[in-house]
Amino acid sequence: MNPVIPIQTDRGCQEAPVLRERGQREVFCGLTGIIWLHRKMQDAFFLVVGSRTCAHLIQSAAGVMIFAEPRFATAILDERDLAGLADAQDELDRVVQRLLERRPDIRMLFLVGSCPSEVIKLDLSRAAARLSQRHAPRVRVLNYSGSGIETTFTQGEDACLAALVPSLPAQPPEAAGHAPELLVVGALADVVEDQFRRQFDAMGLQRVDFFPARSSTTLPAIGPQTRFLLAQPFLGDTARALEARGARHVPAPFPLGAEGSAAWLQAGAAAMGLDRDRTAEVIEPWRQRAGRALETHRLRLAGQRVFFFPDSQLEIPLARFLSRELGMQLVEVGTPYLHRSHLAEELALLPSGTALSEGQDVERQLDRCRAARPDLVVCGLGLANPLEAEGLTTKWSIELVFTPIHGFDQAADLAALFTRPLLRRQRLAA
Ligand code: SF4
Repeated sequence: MNPVIPIQTDRGCQEAPVLRERGQREVFCGLTGIIWLHRKMQDAFFLVVGSRTCAHLIQSAAGVMIFAEPRFATAILDERDLAGLADAQDELDRVVQRLLERRPDIRMLFLVGSCPSEVIKLDLSRAAARLSQRHAPRVRVLNYSGSGIETTFTQGEDACLAALVPSLPAQPPEAAGHAPELLVVGALADVVEDQFRRQFDAMGLQRVDFFPARSSTTLPAIGPQTRFLLAQPFLGDTARALEARGARHVPAPFPLGAEGSAAWLQAGAAAMGLDRDRTAEVIEPWRQRAGRALETHRLRLAGQRVFFFPDSQLEIPLARFLSRELGMQLVEVGTPYLHRSHLAEELALLPSGTALSEGQDVERQLDRCRAARPDLVVCGLGLANPLEAEGLTTKWSIELVFTPIHGFDQAADLAALFTRPLLRRQRLAA
Protein backbone atom coordinates (compact mmCIF):
# COMPACT_ATOMS: atom_id res chain seq x y z
CA MET A 1 0.00 0.00 0.00
CA ASN A 2 1.28 3.48 -0.80
CA PRO A 3 1.88 5.77 2.13
CA VAL A 4 -0.56 8.59 1.66
CA ILE A 5 -0.38 12.21 2.64
CA PRO A 6 -3.90 13.10 3.80
CA ILE A 7 -5.82 14.94 1.13
CA GLN A 8 -8.81 17.11 1.94
CA THR A 9 -11.96 16.21 0.15
CA ASP A 10 -13.91 19.44 0.67
CA ARG A 11 -12.53 22.97 0.23
CA GLY A 12 -12.16 23.72 3.95
CA CYS A 13 -12.06 27.50 4.38
CA GLN A 14 -10.96 28.38 0.84
CA GLU A 15 -14.13 30.34 0.20
CA ALA A 16 -14.98 31.18 3.79
CA PRO A 17 -15.97 34.77 4.62
CA VAL A 18 -13.23 36.79 6.33
CA LEU A 19 -13.87 39.55 8.86
CA ARG A 20 -11.78 42.50 7.62
CA GLU A 21 -10.79 45.08 10.22
CA ARG A 22 -8.83 48.26 9.61
CA GLY A 23 -8.58 49.83 13.07
CA GLN A 24 -5.79 50.35 15.55
CA ARG A 25 -3.30 47.51 15.62
CA GLU A 26 -0.79 46.23 18.15
CA VAL A 27 2.03 44.71 16.12
CA PHE A 28 5.79 45.23 16.04
CA CYS A 29 7.17 47.03 12.99
CA GLY A 30 9.26 45.45 10.22
CA LEU A 31 12.56 46.43 11.86
CA THR A 32 12.05 43.36 14.05
CA GLY A 33 12.98 41.12 11.10
CA ILE A 34 16.60 42.27 11.44
CA ILE A 35 16.82 40.12 14.56
CA TRP A 36 16.62 36.85 12.63
CA LEU A 37 17.91 38.10 9.26
CA HIS A 38 21.27 39.23 10.65
CA ARG A 39 21.86 35.74 12.01
CA LYS A 40 21.00 34.12 8.71
CA MET A 41 22.96 36.35 6.29
CA GLN A 42 26.36 36.12 7.82
CA ASP A 43 28.24 38.79 5.86
CA ALA A 44 25.40 41.32 5.78
CA PHE A 45 24.98 44.38 7.97
CA PHE A 46 21.69 46.16 8.69
CA LEU A 47 21.98 49.89 9.23
CA VAL A 48 18.66 51.29 10.43
CA VAL A 49 18.22 54.91 9.43
CA GLY A 50 15.89 56.01 12.15
CA SER A 51 15.15 57.71 15.43
CA ARG A 52 16.08 56.94 19.02
CA THR A 53 12.87 54.88 19.28
CA CYS A 54 14.11 52.62 16.48
CA ALA A 55 17.50 52.33 18.20
CA HIS A 56 15.76 51.31 21.44
CA LEU A 57 13.64 48.71 19.67
CA ILE A 58 16.64 47.18 17.97
CA GLN A 59 18.80 47.30 21.08
CA SER A 60 16.24 45.92 23.48
CA ALA A 61 14.79 43.30 21.16
CA ALA A 62 18.05 42.13 19.66
CA GLY A 63 20.81 43.36 21.94
CA VAL A 64 20.23 40.62 24.45
CA MET A 65 20.54 37.93 21.81
CA ILE A 66 23.98 38.65 20.44
CA PHE A 67 27.29 37.49 21.77
CA ALA A 68 29.67 38.67 19.07
CA GLU A 69 30.06 42.11 17.50
CA PRO A 70 26.63 42.97 16.20
CA ARG A 71 25.75 43.15 12.54
CA PHE A 72 23.12 45.83 12.94
CA ALA A 73 23.10 49.40 14.15
CA THR A 74 21.07 52.57 13.97
CA ALA A 75 22.15 55.81 12.31
CA ILE A 76 20.09 58.27 14.29
CA LEU A 77 18.77 61.31 12.47
CA ASP A 78 18.25 64.14 14.91
CA GLU A 79 17.19 67.78 14.80
CA ARG A 80 20.45 68.89 13.26
CA ASP A 81 19.87 66.68 10.24
CA LEU A 82 16.48 68.25 9.66
CA ALA A 83 18.21 71.50 8.78
CA GLY A 84 18.92 70.16 5.31
CA LEU A 85 18.46 66.89 3.50
CA ALA A 86 21.81 67.31 1.79
CA ASP A 87 23.39 67.29 5.27
CA ALA A 88 21.52 64.11 6.11
CA GLN A 89 22.80 62.40 2.95
CA ASP A 90 26.36 63.51 3.77
CA GLU A 91 25.99 62.28 7.33
CA LEU A 92 24.75 58.92 6.06
CA ASP A 93 27.72 58.66 3.68
CA ARG A 94 30.10 59.40 6.56
CA VAL A 95 28.47 56.80 8.84
CA VAL A 96 28.68 54.16 6.09
CA GLN A 97 32.29 55.05 5.30
CA ARG A 98 33.29 54.71 8.97
CA LEU A 99 31.36 51.47 9.34
CA LEU A 100 32.91 49.82 6.27
CA GLU A 101 36.43 50.90 7.27
CA ARG A 102 35.97 49.41 10.69
CA ARG A 103 34.25 46.23 9.47
CA PRO A 104 35.98 44.81 6.37
CA ASP A 105 33.96 41.58 6.78
CA ILE A 106 30.77 43.30 5.56
CA ARG A 107 29.88 42.31 1.99
CA MET A 108 26.29 43.47 1.86
CA LEU A 109 24.87 46.51 3.56
CA PHE A 110 21.15 47.13 3.98
CA LEU A 111 20.00 50.69 4.65
CA VAL A 112 16.74 50.10 6.50
CA GLY A 113 14.18 52.92 6.42
CA SER A 114 11.87 53.67 9.33
CA CYS A 115 8.83 55.85 9.99
CA PRO A 116 10.03 59.18 11.43
CA SER A 117 9.11 61.91 8.95
CA GLU A 118 12.72 63.04 8.51
CA VAL A 119 13.63 59.52 7.34
CA ILE A 120 10.67 59.29 4.98
CA LYS A 121 11.92 62.46 3.28
CA LEU A 122 15.33 60.93 2.76
CA ASP A 123 15.64 59.02 -0.53
CA LEU A 124 17.31 55.83 0.68
CA SER A 125 17.20 54.13 -2.72
CA ARG A 126 19.31 56.97 -4.18
CA ALA A 127 21.62 56.75 -1.20
CA ALA A 128 21.97 52.98 -1.69
CA ALA A 129 22.74 53.38 -5.41
CA ARG A 130 25.32 56.09 -4.68
CA LEU A 131 26.98 54.12 -1.88
CA SER A 132 26.92 50.90 -3.89
CA GLN A 133 28.84 52.64 -6.66
CA ARG A 134 31.33 54.07 -4.19
CA HIS A 135 32.00 50.79 -2.38
CA ALA A 136 31.73 48.31 -5.29
CA PRO A 137 32.81 45.63 -5.83
CA ARG A 138 33.63 44.89 -2.19
CA VAL A 139 30.24 45.86 -0.76
CA ARG A 140 26.77 45.90 -2.27
CA VAL A 141 24.43 48.45 -0.69
CA LEU A 142 20.67 47.87 -0.84
CA ASN A 143 17.72 49.48 0.90
CA TYR A 144 14.27 48.56 2.12
CA SER A 145 11.72 49.89 4.55
CA GLY A 146 11.02 48.44 7.99
CA SER A 147 8.76 51.38 8.86
CA GLY A 148 5.86 50.68 11.17
CA ILE A 149 3.62 52.64 8.80
CA GLU A 150 4.28 50.28 5.90
CA THR A 151 5.23 46.99 7.50
CA THR A 152 4.28 44.73 10.36
CA PHE A 153 6.63 42.41 12.22
CA THR A 154 7.42 39.76 9.57
CA GLN A 155 6.94 42.00 6.53
CA GLY A 156 10.43 43.35 7.22
CA GLU A 157 11.81 40.03 5.95
CA ASP A 158 9.60 40.26 2.87
CA ALA A 159 10.79 43.81 2.13
CA CYS A 160 14.44 42.78 2.65
CA LEU A 161 14.26 39.72 0.38
CA ALA A 162 12.28 41.58 -2.29
CA ALA A 163 15.04 44.22 -2.31
CA LEU A 164 17.62 41.48 -2.74
CA VAL A 165 15.92 39.72 -5.69
CA PRO A 166 17.23 42.13 -8.39
CA SER A 167 20.79 41.30 -7.21
CA LEU A 168 20.36 37.56 -7.83
CA PRO A 169 22.34 36.38 -10.84
CA ALA A 170 20.39 35.21 -13.91
CA GLN A 171 20.42 31.55 -14.91
CA PRO A 172 22.70 31.01 -17.92
CA PRO A 173 20.82 30.69 -21.27
CA GLU A 174 21.80 27.00 -21.57
CA ALA A 175 19.77 26.30 -18.37
CA ALA A 176 16.66 26.48 -20.58
CA GLY A 177 17.33 22.95 -21.83
CA HIS A 178 17.96 21.53 -18.34
CA ALA A 179 15.66 20.23 -15.63
CA PRO A 180 14.10 22.90 -13.40
CA GLU A 181 15.82 23.96 -10.17
CA LEU A 182 14.13 24.28 -6.80
CA LEU A 183 14.50 27.38 -4.66
CA VAL A 184 13.31 27.41 -1.05
CA VAL A 185 12.38 30.98 -0.13
CA GLY A 186 12.31 32.37 3.41
CA ALA A 187 14.85 32.61 6.23
CA LEU A 188 15.11 29.29 8.05
CA ALA A 189 17.35 28.44 10.99
CA ASP A 190 20.56 26.87 9.66
CA VAL A 191 19.81 23.58 11.41
CA VAL A 192 16.42 23.40 9.63
CA GLU A 193 17.92 24.33 6.27
CA ASP A 194 20.47 21.52 6.67
CA GLN A 195 17.72 19.02 7.53
CA PHE A 196 15.68 20.00 4.46
CA ARG A 197 18.76 19.80 2.27
CA ARG A 198 19.41 16.22 3.50
CA GLN A 199 15.76 15.30 2.99
CA PHE A 200 15.62 16.68 -0.56
CA ASP A 201 18.83 14.81 -1.21
CA ALA A 202 17.35 11.53 0.07
CA MET A 203 14.37 12.10 -2.23
CA GLY A 204 16.76 12.42 -5.18
CA LEU A 205 16.78 16.22 -5.49
CA GLN A 206 20.24 17.76 -5.52
CA ARG A 207 19.47 20.98 -7.39
CA VAL A 208 18.02 22.83 -4.41
CA ASP A 209 18.99 26.35 -3.31
CA PHE A 210 17.92 28.42 -0.34
CA PHE A 211 17.11 32.13 -0.34
CA PRO A 212 18.34 34.07 1.56
CA ALA A 213 21.72 32.36 1.26
CA ARG A 214 24.07 32.34 4.23
CA SER A 215 26.66 34.31 2.28
CA SER A 216 26.24 37.10 -0.25
CA THR A 217 28.87 35.40 -2.40
CA THR A 218 26.65 32.33 -2.96
CA LEU A 219 23.40 33.94 -4.10
CA PRO A 220 21.30 31.51 -6.16
CA ALA A 221 20.84 32.11 -9.89
CA ILE A 222 17.21 32.49 -10.94
CA GLY A 223 15.21 32.50 -14.14
CA PRO A 224 12.44 30.64 -15.99
CA GLN A 225 13.80 27.26 -14.83
CA THR A 226 13.35 28.22 -11.16
CA ARG A 227 10.46 26.70 -9.22
CA PHE A 228 10.17 28.23 -5.78
CA LEU A 229 8.64 26.85 -2.61
CA LEU A 230 7.79 29.39 0.08
CA ALA A 231 8.96 28.37 3.54
CA GLN A 232 7.16 31.33 5.14
CA PRO A 233 3.67 32.66 4.44
CA PHE A 234 4.59 36.35 4.64
CA LEU A 235 6.64 36.73 1.45
CA GLY A 236 4.14 38.19 -1.04
CA ASP A 237 6.43 40.94 -2.41
CA THR A 238 9.39 38.58 -2.66
CA ALA A 239 7.28 36.07 -4.59
CA ARG A 240 6.14 38.81 -6.98
CA ALA A 241 9.75 39.93 -7.54
CA LEU A 242 10.83 36.33 -8.24
CA GLU A 243 7.94 35.84 -10.65
CA ALA A 244 8.95 39.02 -12.47
CA ARG A 245 12.31 37.29 -13.07
CA GLY A 246 10.58 34.27 -14.60
CA ALA A 247 10.52 31.96 -11.55
CA ARG A 248 7.33 29.98 -10.84
CA HIS A 249 5.67 29.48 -7.46
CA VAL A 250 4.98 25.91 -6.31
CA PRO A 251 1.69 25.90 -4.36
CA ALA A 252 1.96 23.96 -1.09
CA PRO A 253 0.97 24.06 2.56
CA PHE A 254 3.80 25.38 4.76
CA PRO A 255 6.23 22.95 6.41
CA LEU A 256 4.80 23.16 9.93
CA GLY A 257 3.94 19.89 11.66
CA ALA A 258 4.21 16.40 10.22
CA GLU A 259 1.39 16.86 7.71
CA GLY A 260 2.53 20.28 6.47
CA SER A 261 6.18 19.19 6.17
CA ALA A 262 5.22 16.07 4.21
CA ALA A 263 2.93 17.96 1.82
CA TRP A 264 5.51 20.74 1.34
CA LEU A 265 8.37 18.34 0.52
CA GLN A 266 6.12 16.36 -1.76
CA ALA A 267 4.98 19.48 -3.63
CA GLY A 268 8.64 20.45 -4.19
CA ALA A 269 9.48 16.97 -5.45
CA ALA A 270 6.45 16.89 -7.78
CA ALA A 271 7.42 20.29 -9.25
CA MET A 272 10.83 18.80 -10.06
CA GLY A 273 9.17 15.89 -11.86
CA LEU A 274 9.87 13.18 -9.25
CA ASP A 275 7.51 10.24 -8.94
CA ARG A 276 4.83 11.03 -6.35
CA ASP A 277 4.53 7.50 -4.93
CA ARG A 278 8.28 7.08 -4.63
CA THR A 279 8.73 10.38 -2.75
CA ALA A 280 5.78 9.59 -0.50
CA GLU A 281 7.55 6.32 0.45
CA VAL A 282 10.76 8.17 1.32
CA ILE A 283 8.87 10.75 3.36
CA GLU A 284 6.62 8.33 5.23
CA PRO A 285 9.08 7.22 7.99
CA TRP A 286 9.91 10.87 8.79
CA ARG A 287 6.22 11.71 8.90
CA GLN A 288 5.45 8.76 11.17
CA ARG A 289 8.30 9.62 13.55
CA ALA A 290 7.10 13.22 13.80
CA GLY A 291 3.52 11.98 14.32
CA ARG A 292 4.67 9.78 17.24
CA ALA A 293 6.56 12.70 18.78
CA LEU A 294 3.32 14.69 18.71
CA GLU A 295 1.28 12.09 20.60
CA THR A 296 1.96 13.34 24.15
CA HIS A 297 1.20 16.90 23.08
CA ARG A 298 -2.04 15.78 21.48
CA LEU A 299 -3.16 14.31 24.81
CA ARG A 300 -2.69 17.70 26.44
CA LEU A 301 -3.98 19.95 23.65
CA ALA A 302 -6.93 18.05 22.16
CA GLY A 303 -10.19 19.86 22.78
CA GLN A 304 -8.49 23.05 24.05
CA ARG A 305 -9.80 26.26 22.46
CA VAL A 306 -7.28 28.63 20.88
CA PHE A 307 -7.67 32.26 19.72
CA PHE A 308 -5.12 33.89 17.39
CA PHE A 309 -4.55 37.65 17.34
CA PRO A 310 -2.96 38.84 14.08
CA ASP A 311 0.78 39.22 14.39
CA SER A 312 3.23 37.12 12.38
CA GLN A 313 1.16 35.92 9.36
CA LEU A 314 2.01 32.39 10.50
CA GLU A 315 -1.42 32.14 12.13
CA ILE A 316 -3.26 30.18 9.43
CA PRO A 317 -0.63 27.43 8.98
CA LEU A 318 -0.31 27.20 12.78
CA ALA A 319 -4.08 26.95 13.17
CA ARG A 320 -4.16 24.16 10.59
CA PHE A 321 -1.43 22.30 12.51
CA LEU A 322 -3.10 22.77 15.90
CA SER A 323 -6.52 21.69 14.70
CA ARG A 324 -5.62 18.78 12.43
CA GLU A 325 -2.64 17.25 14.21
CA LEU A 326 -3.34 18.19 17.82
CA GLY A 327 -7.13 18.33 17.92
CA MET A 328 -7.40 21.93 19.17
CA GLN A 329 -10.55 23.96 18.49
CA LEU A 330 -10.12 27.23 16.62
CA VAL A 331 -12.10 30.07 18.15
CA GLU A 332 -10.78 32.82 15.84
CA VAL A 333 -7.80 32.90 13.54
CA GLY A 334 -6.62 36.47 12.95
CA THR A 335 -3.86 37.36 10.51
CA PRO A 336 -2.45 40.80 9.63
CA TYR A 337 -2.76 40.03 5.93
CA LEU A 338 -4.38 37.09 4.15
CA HIS A 339 -2.64 36.19 0.89
CA ARG A 340 -5.37 34.05 -0.65
CA SER A 341 -3.30 32.33 -3.31
CA HIS A 342 -0.22 31.59 -1.15
CA LEU A 343 -2.50 30.28 1.59
CA ALA A 344 -4.96 28.42 -0.66
CA GLU A 345 -3.65 24.95 0.34
CA GLU A 346 -3.71 25.92 4.01
CA LEU A 347 -7.23 27.32 3.87
CA ALA A 348 -8.42 24.11 2.21
CA LEU A 349 -7.16 22.17 5.23
CA LEU A 350 -8.82 24.33 7.92
CA PRO A 351 -12.07 23.00 9.35
CA SER A 352 -15.07 24.48 7.54
CA GLY A 353 -16.65 27.32 9.48
CA THR A 354 -13.43 28.54 11.15
CA ALA A 355 -13.78 32.23 12.09
CA LEU A 356 -11.12 34.08 10.09
CA SER A 357 -10.17 37.73 10.48
CA GLU A 358 -7.72 39.94 8.60
CA GLY A 359 -6.21 43.18 9.88
CA GLN A 360 -7.09 44.42 13.32
CA ASP A 361 -9.34 46.62 15.37
CA VAL A 362 -7.68 45.72 18.62
CA GLU A 363 -10.43 46.78 21.06
CA ARG A 364 -13.14 44.91 19.15
CA GLN A 365 -10.97 41.85 18.87
CA LEU A 366 -10.19 41.96 22.59
CA ASP A 367 -13.92 42.07 23.27
CA ARG A 368 -14.47 38.97 21.11
CA CYS A 369 -11.60 37.21 22.86
CA ARG A 370 -12.85 38.06 26.36
CA ALA A 371 -16.35 36.92 25.45
CA ALA A 372 -15.07 33.58 24.10
CA ARG A 373 -12.74 32.89 27.11
CA PRO A 374 -10.41 30.60 25.06
CA ASP A 375 -8.02 28.22 26.82
CA LEU A 376 -5.05 29.72 24.96
CA VAL A 377 -4.49 33.08 23.26
CA VAL A 378 -1.67 33.54 20.74
CA CYS A 379 -0.79 37.23 20.59
CA GLY A 380 1.90 39.90 20.59
CA LEU A 381 3.84 40.93 23.68
CA GLY A 382 1.77 44.08 24.19
CA LEU A 383 -1.47 42.15 24.64
CA ALA A 384 -0.11 39.14 26.53
CA ASN A 385 0.41 40.75 29.94
CA PRO A 386 -3.03 42.41 30.23
CA LEU A 387 -4.72 39.19 29.09
CA GLU A 388 -2.72 37.10 31.57
CA ALA A 389 -3.81 39.53 34.29
CA GLU A 390 -7.41 38.78 33.29
CA GLY A 391 -6.80 35.07 33.82
CA LEU A 392 -6.29 34.09 30.18
CA THR A 393 -3.35 31.92 29.15
CA THR A 394 -1.17 33.39 26.40
CA LYS A 395 1.56 32.43 24.00
CA TRP A 396 3.82 35.18 22.58
CA SER A 397 3.67 34.91 18.82
CA ILE A 398 7.15 36.44 18.49
CA GLU A 399 8.60 33.20 19.91
CA LEU A 400 7.15 31.32 16.96
CA VAL A 401 9.35 33.34 14.65
CA PHE A 402 12.53 33.14 16.74
CA THR A 403 12.33 29.39 17.39
CA PRO A 404 13.15 26.77 14.73
CA ILE A 405 9.66 25.32 14.07
CA HIS A 406 9.77 24.11 10.46
CA GLY A 407 10.12 20.52 9.37
CA PHE A 408 9.50 17.05 10.82
CA ASP A 409 12.21 17.21 13.47
CA GLN A 410 10.80 20.42 14.92
CA ALA A 411 7.11 19.36 14.93
CA ALA A 412 7.15 18.32 18.59
CA ASP A 413 9.09 21.46 19.58
CA LEU A 414 6.42 23.51 17.85
CA ALA A 415 3.67 21.68 19.72
CA ALA A 416 5.58 22.19 22.98
CA LEU A 417 5.39 25.95 22.49
CA PHE A 418 1.62 25.60 22.94
CA THR A 419 1.57 22.98 25.70
CA ARG A 420 4.02 24.90 27.91
CA PRO A 421 1.82 27.90 28.74
CA LEU A 422 -1.11 25.59 29.49
CA LEU A 423 1.01 23.49 31.84
CA ARG A 424 2.33 26.63 33.52
CA ARG A 425 -1.24 27.84 34.10
CA GLN A 426 -2.21 24.42 35.50
CA ARG A 427 0.71 24.48 37.91
CA LEU A 428 -0.15 28.01 39.03
CA ALA A 429 -3.76 26.97 39.60
CA ALA A 430 -2.63 23.93 41.62
FE1 SF4 B 1 8.91 52.81 15.99
FE2 SF4 B 1 8.63 53.33 13.39
FE3 SF4 B 1 11.10 53.04 14.41
FE4 SF4 B 1 9.48 50.92 14.18
S1 SF4 B 1 10.31 52.15 12.49
S2 SF4 B 1 10.71 51.47 15.98
S3 SF4 B 1 7.46 51.81 14.57
S4 SF4 B 1 9.63 54.65 14.93
